[in-house]
Amino acid sequence: MNVFDLTGKVAVITGGTRGIGMAAVERFLDCGAIVILFGSRQETVDKALAALAQSRPGAKVEGMCPNLSDAEAVKAAFARIVEEHGRLDVLINNAGISQSQSLYDYKPEDFAKIMDLNVKAVFNGCYAAAPIMKQQGGGVILNTSSMVSLYGQRSGSGYPTSKYAVNGLTKSLARELGPDNIRVNAVAPGVTDTDMVAALPEAYRKPMLAAIPMRRFGTAEDVANAFLYLASDMAAYVTGAILSVDGGCMM
Ligand code: NAD
Repeated sequence: MNVFDLTGKVAVITGGTRGIGMAAVERFLDCGAIVILFGSRQETVDKALAALAQSRPGAKVEGMCPNLSDAEAVKAAFARIVEEHGRLDVLINNAGISQSQSLYDYKPEDFAKIMDLNVKAVFNGCYAAAPIMKQQGGGVILNTSSMVSLYGQRSGSGYPTSKYAVNGLTKSLARELGPDNIRVNAVAPGVTDTDMVAALPEAYRKPMLAAIPMRRFGTAEDVANAFLYLASDMAAYVTGAILSVDGGCMM
């Protein structure tokens, strides 16, 4: 018996074309879910679907690329999914960008850009998913925070600011939606070896590694496993949690 069985569950994973999102797509497919991955462009969605067709032939996976910062576009995408599959059981708000510039170099549009995706898009996803989940008797919303939401970082202050907002939204919606049997949790990854971290200069990566008790960066699969646990019935009484997956980095 697979205690993480998700057979027949319908899951939307934003930013599912690569990195942590793609690892979550793979885990969820392997546990029997029907997955709709969201990407920023049709081209990257098609590429991800082609890779999955190779690695998991016959897997029940589809792709879409609504503008996540547009509440109406997200609502319309979810409506299409419900029309086709009859329900929406799990939403993983994973799409995000990071920033590393100094405050002195920030342009107003930089701050607007990160808030648009890391906060507004997460709100839009929750806003569109909650009524569907309430009507069907429950569901699970998982947000992607970051260890720096809890401790800050020396530059790129828009990023921890956006993730702190994600924590606030997660805890608030856990309180508000619990009575509707909708669980809302977040995963707070530490330094996870994806494109986002590969893009950092070596001068950043080295001291980061030295500060991690587990002495390795996280993998996308480490984070995907936390999503899987929180989405499964094994976490049936877990809501409002910000689960750190950071190798003990920020105890
Ligand atoms: P990544 O850059 O590899 O992937 C980001 C995903 O977001 C991609 O699928 C991309 O298509 C999507 N995306 C980017 N801009 C988008 C837009 N405007 N509209 C729709 N989708 C868009 O990053 P990752 O490391 O896999 O990060 C995934 C999540 O984990 C993010 O929310 C990130 O903040 C968070 N996180 C990552 C780390 C890390 O160390 N990698 C640490 C903490 C938190």
